[in-house]
Amino acid sequence: MIRASELIERKRDGKELAGGEVAELVLAYARGEVPDYQLAAFLMAVYFQGLTIAETFALTDAMVRSGETIDLHAALGRRVVDKHSTGGVGDKTTLAVGPIVAACGVPFGKMSGRGLGHTGGTLDKLESIPGFRVELTTEEFVAQVRDTGLAIVGQSANLVPADKMLYALRDVTATVENVSLIAASIMSKKIAAGADAIVLDVKVGDGAFMKSLPDARVLAEAMLALGERAERDVVCVLTDMDQPLGCAVGNALEVREAVATLRGEGPADFDELVLDACAHLLALSDLGVDRAEGRRRAEQAVADGSAVAAYERWVRVQGGDPDVDALPRAPVIREVPAASGGYVQRLAALPVGLAALHLGAGRREKDDPVDHAVGVVCRKKRGDAVEAGEPLAEIHARDEGSAAEAAAAVLAAYELGGAEPLARPIVLETIG
Ligand code: URA
Repeated sequence: MIRASELIERKRDGKELAGGEVAELVLAYARGEVPDYQLAAFLMAVYFQGLTIAETFALTDAMVRSGETIDLHAALGRRVVDKHSTGGVGDKTTLAVGPIVAACGVPFGKMSGRGLGHTGGTLDKLESIPGFRVELTTEEFVAQVRDTGLAIVGQSANLVPADKMLYALRDVTATVENVSLIAASIMSKKIAAGADAIVLDVKVGDGAFMKSLPDARVLAEAMLALGERAERDVVCVLTDMDQPLGCAVGNALEVREAVATLRGEGPADFDELVLDACAHLLALSDLGVDRAEGRRRAEQAVADGSAVAAYERWVRVQGGDPDVDALPRAPVIREVPAASGGYVQRLAALPVGLAALHLGAGRREKDDPVDHAVGVVCRKKRGDAVEAGEPLAEIHARDEGSAAEAAAAVLAAYELGGAEPLARPIVLETIG
């Protein structure tokens, strides 16, 4: 019988546990043999004392072993690529990257999550597409990656069940923001879902888990080490989340922006991140190209319409209507005018994410319903010039009351000033 209290005590006192002890504790918890209160205490001890790299390996391995694993490589007979973001505001990157990579002839298979708190989830965005099915069986998922070259689905119930249980517990015990726990959570899912090569988008800034570049580097290095150990090729891009990504924040609004980007009509920062991620993924694939050629092919897929055609084919195969006019629209659209003129010095991501959440675009609790139509469109971003009275943003709301509340919150997220601020690139650093 596992002595959970002894392991909690040793971790509390800053001692290193043996890999087998970490694995035993997590797997016993996943089997229901250790109660929530003991694991919550263990997580808090980890939050303060951290895990060594050996303990993090053991935790990740145990989480992978808690459920099924998928071998996409064996099923397809070729390399499969995947991407993951640590979560941010307006992050619809997967919706554009998947079709571009598929249009370039590289299979893309991804299991995604739902949004929680101010960060949106890819599944909620996909569910704003009328008819789109996010719940495929593992067999359907593998077959679709093989036959269509692209599948983005909800995580199967039996994939890393220990992470589902641990994440839910971390979420309510203020223990999400620990580098080892985040790295193990993300990498266990990536390893179990079976892609050979993974691009990890580590968000940095006020709208992200990692608030500073040094913290983001530590997370990136931990995930690279876990990837190397599992024999996966991993590249980490550290990207700016001090302002929302692109302009749209909210499910259907973000799908529209992703489709615009696939047509070459998206916002500059989002466009750049998408092409950079595609260049890495194509360079990691079995096409035998380098990053520069990968980027050229991704740009070509957008320019010649094959990326948007791949999007339409994929959405139809998953039961959805790819016509952007079929996406839900909010009944109330309200502009947020600038009180004065100047340059946008700052557009804080977190308050915009929270405004979208309060409009109904996200969920505060796990089982809350999501309003797919509502959200915020930031018409001005950092560095843009604005005149007094010109719209800074647009609020898409269910009613006038919630629109007014969101408008005030979004206005407060903007900081205007006289001088043009220094430009900050979307991709801050690449590691791996
Ligand atoms: N995303 C995850 O999947 N897990 C974490 O712990 C944090 C972000």
